[in-house]
Amino acid sequence: MNPLRTLVLAAAGNDAVRRVVASAPVSRDVVRRFVAGETTADAIDATSRLVGQDGLRVTLDHLGEGTADRGTAERTVRAYLELLDQLHDLGLAADAEVSVKLSAVGLALGETLALDNASRICAAAEQAGTTVTVDMEDHTTTDATLRVLAELRRHWPWAGAVLQACLRRTLDDCRELAGTRVRLCKGAYAEPASVAYVDPHQVDLNYVRCANVLLAGSGYPMFATHDPRLVEIVGERARWHGKSVEDFEFQMLYGVRPGEQLHLAAEGHVVRVYVPFGEQWYGYLVRRLAERPANVAFFLRSLVSR
Ligand code: FAD
Repeated sequence: MNPLRTLVLAAAGNDAVRRVVASAPVSRDVVRRFVAGETTADAIDATSRLVGQDGLRVTLDHLGEGTADRGTAERTVRAYLELLDQLHDLGLAADAEVSVKLSAVGLALGETLALDNASRICAAAEQAGTTVTVDMEDHTTTDATLRVLAELRRHWPWAGAVLQACLRRTLDDCRELAGTRVRLCKGAYAEPASVAYVDPHQVDLNYVRCANVLLAGSGYPMFATHDPRLVEIVGERARWHGKSVEDFEFQMLYGVRPGEQLHLAAEGHVVRVYVPFGEQWYGYLVRRLAERPANVAFFLRSLVSR
């Protein structure tokens, strides 16, 4: 893995660094580029704009992860329930779903609690007329996340999985889940070579192998990447597999390559934007900075130009 990326991701776990970044006034400006805002109203505003003006779809992530506190997990669940109500009331549910991290709804306190909480969110999503995708976190949680997902799918077969091309196991997981709704991404966490490809070229090759398996299956693949080469290859492989534009979608993050999001939508593709919101933006921001050295430079420049 790129040393800068490793350094930035290591800083994510450092409390002193977190306090400095969170208290710098400039953080707000930088955060705004990648995060829709801190409140449900901010999330709804961004969704209305992306869906209404830009013709895009949305998946909303209430920020927060890795809680070992029942009360925090409960507040996260309630934030999702409130959000889903509003998506329904405002007629946005057909175009906007939610993404949930199991660690935000209590996975550290046990799979049963995470399953109960995720089930409440799925039930509310069903009532609202939309779906849920379960985000994938670092490799130590992959098995537990897939187990909880399998339980959720007994009641809500549309519950979406996420698989990470950086992990060596993922091609097998794709074979297993190819008949279902699966988001394929490269993977945002610093993973050891024992379980993950560390060479970015190997990750890209595995992404293409996995995309082929998903496109050959009967499920609904969601290709989450900003990588122009992968977007092109996926489009070409989809045609080869005889898929129409309704059979799969592209997904990109809020604030990343917004021009390309519009361009793909104008070509007729379904494009879904991952819109994070909430007060707990720190871990998310660090992962976005780590993905691209230019983002770190952008952040440091705005700190010194104040
Ligand atoms: P990269 O090789 O990182 O980037 C390719 C190009 O895209 C770059 O050259 C640059 O032009 C542009 N780009 C990429 N990232 C940025 C950025 N942050 N800022 C500016 N430009 C950028 N990861 C998980 O581990 N679990 C998940 O559940 C998960 N869900 C995701 C959902 C969506 C919708 C998306 C888009 C990503 C998700 N990710 C998730 C993150 C993903 O794993 C990657 O870390 C991230 O998408 C960067 O990889 P890339 O495919 O865009 O390729």
